[in-house]
Amino acid sequence: MTRHIFVTGGVVSSLGKGLTSASIGMLLEARGLRVRMQKLDPYINVDPGTMSPYQHGEVYVLDDGSETDLDLGHYERFTSTPLTRECNYTTGQIYLSVINKERRGEFLGKTVQVIPHITNEIKQKVLDLASSDTDIVITEIGGTVGDIESLPFLEAIRQIPLAAGRENCMFIHLTLVPYLKAAGELKTKPTQHSVGILRQIGIQPDVLVCRTERGLDVSDREKIALFCNVPLEAVIEERDKDFSIYEVPLSLQSNRIDDLVLRRFGIQAPPADLDAWHDILHRLRNPEHEVSIALVGKYAEHRDAYKSIYEALDHGGIARHTQVRVQAINSEDIEREGAERLLAGFDGLVVPGGFGERGIEGKVEAIGFARARKLPFLGICLGMQCAVIDAARNLAGLADAHSTEFARNTPHPVICLMDEQQGVEAKGGTMRLGAQTAVLAEGSKAAAAYGTTRISERHRHRYEFNERYRRQLEEAGLAIAGTSPDGSLVEIVELVDHPWFVAVQFHPEFKSKPTAAHPLFSGLIAAAVERHAGSAWATGNS
Ligand code: GLN
Repeated sequence: MTRHIFVTGGVVSSLGKGLTSASIGMLLEARGLRVRMQKLDPYINVDPGTMSPYQHGEVYVLDDGSETDLDLGHYERFTSTPLTRECNYTTGQIYLSVINKERRGEFLGKTVQVIPHITNEIKQKVLDLASSDTDIVITEIGGTVGDIESLPFLEAIRQIPLAAGRENCMFIHLTLVPYLKAAGELKTKPTQHSVGILRQIGIQPDVLVCRTERGLDVSDREKIALFCNVPLEAVIEERDKDFSIYEVPLSLQSNRIDDLVLRRFGIQAPPADLDAWHDILHRLRNPEHEVSIALVGKYAEHRDAYKSIYEALDHGGIARHTQVRVQAINSEDIEREGAERLLAGFDGLVVPGGFGERGIEGKVEAIGFARARKLPFLGICLGMQCAVIDAARNLAGLADAHSTEFARNTPHPVICLMDEQQGVEAKGGTMRLGAQTAVLAEGSKAAAAYGTTRISERHRHRYEFNERYRRQLEEAGLAIAGTSPDGSLVEIVELVDHPWFVAVQFHPEFKSKPTAAHPLFSGLIAAAVERHAGSAWATGNS
């Protein structure tokens, strides 16, 4: 029998519902349960694929090619639950599916309404994840309780206990307990109000996870318990973690959230084995090396836009016992101030994926600097395309070489629209998306890092390395280190005479975990550690 946990949030957004949900999933898996995870987002876009990174942060791509919310990245990094298209629905998708049914005549002349048609559709999406090989489905509801947009989702999950049994459902509500300096105390009123709104809707939370800067004392917890109608032990403190997000599951476990869940559902399970997780934190706290990595993109000031890349760099650091300091640099600043001025002193460079012309020349210049100065470099998607542009212009002498994404009439279109993309006009879900197999060249850096010559990685792009320039660029020194299995699409380029210059058309950051760093990120960090040691030696500083 499958049980359901619903995670909601109140008072303010950005409380870390995604991290908390992922941590609960991880703890339940560590106790031997089979978990599925799902996020329901109240916005009307069909998926985040068409949204600006400023609005939404990164678009997280799954193996099946779905473009999803970045919280699914937390789910994948923390758990081993299979994630598919069915794990992320938006209001837009729900309405689209109901409207398509209406157009097919499936409602037989009835008036189609939010209740019951939209709520039934939502309910079905949650219940569809239940199966004989799933013990617990964790469904996170995006947005904040009290928002107009969230109402149909909250109404739908209110109804689920009627279908699945109240004893098989658990409501976990995340809330903020702010510290008021002027009063010198924590304030529980916002929590009381947000639980009040939930109870008006008909949802009585079973557990309150209280986000707070300072520790809650027993009297705060007693007050919350009494006014919000939950047992004292179910008022859980989740203090801000200034060190690492990977502390969150351990802190929730020390507050016994996994025991609360198991007791509530009457499930017996062995204690959690968290050795691997303790090891991660031990390594983070006791690094043997330190490196600084420049991340040159156009959303430097917006961390969420490159969420998985920051995480994957940390994972590389965990694998290599290294503290990784990442500094985001705006590629337009490189255009203004020059790569030499902004990049000297770094031990490695990452140029991430992206779209649009702004800042392109700065990325190309940064890569040229890494090439010439033998600075370890990892290029991702657009970062790989910029590496090809740099090589074409500066190694092969093809002046003005460019991507047709940015210069339609360039004399040397070294990056061009993929054949399968010709004539594609619609925007959502139409790129080359999801897991694709690639074959690596024997002896390449990539093959050495992966330890194999056949890999599967996730893609999200419309443009590609132009096959017509392949021979010329190879002759100029750009090595083709990976292609699609039929050899037609270039997936990885490298420089041979360079400590670590690897650029890939796919997104390795989506497959990196704290417990299993992606080989390309741990390869980059290893090269950066060597570079750092070499430069310390050269300057006499150790
Ligand atoms: N804009 C490029 C393309 O569509 C790169 C995409 C990306 O970096 N995700 O091919």
